[in-house]
Amino acid sequence: PVPHIPFRPFPLKFVANMGHNVPKLNDPSLLIEKSYVDGEWVDAASGETFEVEDPSTGKKIASCPEFNKQDTDKAIAAAEEALKSWRKTTGRERATYLRKWYDEVQKNAADIATLITWENGKPLNDAKGETAYASNFFLWFSEEAAHIHGDTIPASVPGNRVQTIKQPVGICGLITPWNFPAAMITRKIGPALAAGCTVVAKSPGETPFTANALAELSRRAGIPKGVVNIVTASKNTAEVGETLTTDTRIKKISFTGSTGVGKLLMKQAAGTMKKVSWELGGNAAFIVFDDCADLDAAVAGAIACKFRSSGQTCVCANRLYVQDGIYDKFAEKFAAKVKDFKVGYGFDDGVTHGPVIHDRAVSKVEAHVKDAEKKGGKVVVGGQKLPDLGSNFYAPTVITGVTNDMQLSNEETFGPVAGLFRFKTEKEVVKLANDSPVGLAGYFYSSNVNRIYRVAEALEVGMVGVNTGLISDAAAPFGGVKESGFGREGSKYGVEEYMIIKTITIGGI
Ligand code: NAD
Repeated sequence: PVPHIPFRPFPLKFVANMGHNVPKLNDPSLLIEKSYVDGEWVDAASGETFEVEDPSTGKKIASCPEFNKQDTDKAIAAAEEALKSWRKTTGRERATYLRKWYDEVQKNAADIATLITWENGKPLNDAKGETAYASNFFLWFSEEAAHIHGDTIPASVPGNRVQTIKQPVGICGLITPWNFPAAMITRKIGPALAAGCTVVAKSPGETPFTANALAELSRRAGIPKGVVNIVTASKNTAEVGETLTTDTRIKKISFTGSTGVGKLLMKQAAGTMKKVSWELGGNAAFIVFDDCADLDAAVAGAIACKFRSSGQTCVCANRLYVQDGIYDKFAEKFAAKVKDFKVGYGFDDGVTHGPVIHDRAVSKVEAHVKDAEKKGGKVVVGGQKLPDLGSNFYAPTVITGVTNDMQLSNEETFGPVAGLFRFKTEKEVVKLANDSPVGLAGYFYSSNVNRIYRVAEALEVGMVGVNTGLISDAAAPFGGVKESGFGREGSKYGVEEYMIIKTITIGGI
């Protein structure tokens, strides 16, 4: 219990929505209502389009072509043709192309951030952060491209010489979600191009315009036609996905999204035995031990980790475990910070938190909060929709007294709800944290060095944050274990996902 916080206060600093700060691009030609195939901006052969809405205002932004199998086939054919020469370029040449693309993104960073906020809803400051993070994948992999090499291996057989070379796997089918409209796509295209692959990327139906602007910047950077192809679809998403995962010309699928869709695509890709990587859902535990050195730092870390992008990142804390001795103090400080949030339109000054992506996301958040309340959880901040702001706004919410039997604990909420669990021992909390079919990220705060190693090694996840709530870095491998998928993005490992190792044995020497 947190007695001095009255039940369900509502001091979130609302910002009147709509009207002010209407999105405006410095270069309006970066809002492109087409798909990008073979270096050309094209429509769907059927002429069909789908509309994209600003999740904050519900107002239409623009339309995009609704691609189907035949349109996607053309993009694959373009990637196949381009692969013939792209795979023969030197690493240094590909490095230069990626570096030019990075420079173009830097030059147009303000517009990329505007597009992200417009179609995703995250506040402009967060969108600027995403733009920097996204472009870093071009920079990082431009540096990797020139340093890809194989091995010379001492042979076991006399007279033999063994070498390995690394070669591009071929055409890659990439599918990405809306929560990071720029970063999810650059994290895949950067290493694919560095490796010498060409790509057909299916952009998210909710946020296609950021991907289109990036493709236009690839054109301006001089990247040859057909190397980067962007297909857009909304209602036909499953058809386009099936085309990419079953086409024999495509040799690699990389998908970021939910575990459910990942499993479906993995089955589809099995028929042609493609190389695959999956960045799927998480359910991150965020543990605060009572030996943490600085409770305020732990609160700040938890706030950043939980509420960034309104809770819509796959590495967001979903379960916050706080040790008994500091639980009440932590809950009080944490709730006070959430009350200070300024929720509203991402383009308005001072806004710290925007909407969730669509009405289905609002319904999921609402269901999780109601379920927690029914089972004894106590809403200490938020706990309601914010219709005055818009239909996709839900108040950042803190619930205390959360227990294992609640939906909040068992499913990724993917929204602005923090559930605080109380725990007593390290053994108990590690068991609770690992009691999940998924394992993407995990976090904890402690100043005990033995515990830091013990718990970091015991958590069943692909990434651990110790005394920090933010772990994403182009230089660090990103990926999960268990049903969060496999494969790593970013870092020196990222490029391996797009290469094959070929062994060459020369005999009779
Ligand atoms: P989703 O799986 O529904 O959709 C993700 C993408 O896949 C979208 O572009 C969508 O259009 C596409 N898609 C959906 N059905 C498809 C199909 N049948 N064939 C081909 N493509 C299809 O996920 P979502 O709810 O939109 O995104 C949130 C999920 O993504 C969360 O579970 C989150 O944890 C996960 N995520 C994971 C990472 C990571 O790196 N592990 C990063 C971001 C998001």
